[in-house]
Amino acid sequence: MSYELPVLRALIDHFKRMPGIGEKTARRLAFAILYTDREEVEDFAKVLLRVKERIGFCSICGNLAESDTCRICNDPRRESGVVCIVERPADIYFFEKIGNFRGRYHVLHGLLSPLDGVGAGDLNIENLEARIEREGIEEVILATSTSVEGDTTALYISEILKGTGVRITRLARGIPMGSTLEYINGNTLAKAFETREEI
Ligand SMILES: [Zn+2]
Repeated sequence: MSYELPVLRALIDHFKRMPGIGEKTARRLAFAILYTDREEVEDFAKVLLRVKERIGFCSICGNLAESDTCRICNDPRRESGVVCIVERPADIYFFEKIGNFRGRYHVLHGLLSPLDGVGAGDLNIENLEARIEREGIEEVILATSTSVEGDTTALYISEILKGTGVRITRLARGIPMGSTLEYINGNTLAKAFETREEI
């Protein structure tokens, strides 16, 4: 028989559903909540809800946005001729941390993975072609990871953009196989940007 309190168990289970959190860490976090002031816990709960209520996706690029379009798309100082294609909004965070990319982004929200049933229709690819036309984009940088899925997706996009006459490049050198951008340090990524290759 378990003497564990159901409410505490429920909290532990919620933490466990977060990426990278196992039973031990989930338990530690749940106990941290137990020992936190009521006021602070209320704040935390409010922020969790606010994130869900207020944050959506940019109608232009798919990045996180608090209104119809994101802060990067709204910034007139960003170059409009270059678009960097990434898998997730989190990737933009890493690119921005390096700070040497001044163009705009396009977020796919996933990678092609036929084995998992993820096709082109499941990704934010459709309005990419329209963007190229509308925004006068001259270069598309494919910055998907160098995993099988990342390469497949990059190849697919380069195929559908072939007819547009846009310059297509791929971040390749310096990014180890199968790694996601998250695990690459700024210098490596900056170098990968400089040495991007034409497809
Ligand atoms: Zn945007």
